[in-house]
Amino acid sequence: MAQIRKRLTENVAGEFFVDASCIDCDACRQIAPASFRDHGGQSSVFRQPQNPGELHRAFMALVACPTASIGTTTHRSARTGVEAFPVLVAHDVYFCGFTSQASFGAWAYLIVRPQERGGNVLVDSPRFSAPLVKRIEEMGGVSLMFLSHRDDIADHAKFAAHFHCPRVMHEGDAAIAHGVERVITGTAPLPLDDDLQLIPTPGHTRGHQVLLYQDKILFSGDHLAWSAERETLTAFRDVCWYSWTEQTRSMEKLLAYHFEWVLPGHGRIHGGMADDMHEHLKRCLARMKRE
Ligand code: SF4
Repeated sequence: MAQIRKRLTENVAGEFFVDASCIDCDACRQIAPASFRDHGGQSSVFRQPQNPGELHRAFMALVACPTASIGTTTHRSARTGVEAFPVLVAHDVYFCGFTSQASFGAWAYLIVRPQERGGNVLVDSPRFSAPLVKRIEEMGGVSLMFLSHRDDIADHAKFAAHFHCPRVMHEGDAAIAHGVERVITGTAPLPLDDDLQLIPTPGHTRGHQVLLYQDKILFSGDHLAWSAERETLTAFRDVCWYSWTEQTRSMEKLLAYHFEWVLPGHGRIHGGMADDMHEHLKRCLARMKRE
């Protein structure tokens, strides 16, 4: 729970505040941009919620925060924020909220599909939190867990045990050591289902992989994200743990695919026309080759 005695001085006066435990994951700024800002290395409240909509988003940010760094002076119930997740992003894909510190606040997603189409897919792992687990149960549970790479898997074992679902992860990221049921090898794309294409994308880590859903939505892990500053797609060289050369090569592979949405673990989500996304991807690739 956020502690008022650790309240950052950068917060404006009022009910909501961020304390010194903030790890600068960006979740609150994406979820409630009307209230939270980056003041340099951490987040703070720059404007208190002004209406019911902004209040709701602020409570969602409070719930999603991986480090419980957001608090209220009134200790008001955050129930509306809790009940908001999973929240719809696009088509039948939901953002789970409840990010985990173990994944540095990485975003996890739920694809909701009827059982006859293979059931729901959890993409990376949120925090194993009772209200979220209950909501996911109500939405049909989890039939499969796709794990993009070793850094964003948080409570994967708890979700797998609770929902009795197999996990899919690449051997390059120690999938066997993590007890994963389906271990991917090599770099060849692999259909997981009629509408799910797994694409190995080594670079950020050795075993990084992305998931393409219905040729519309690319779950990009930490391989690719939208940059709000550059207003285009980007990759993060300063957090490339394995090989920038490999990551650039993997990015080039993605040019062969069609998608309208990029839903990353870290970085901004973005949706648009497939042709525009393709142009952004080409621009990202060109920049990677220069860096
Ligand atoms: S969600 Fe929490 S940890 Fe992440 S930037 Fe906001 S306050 Fe900091």
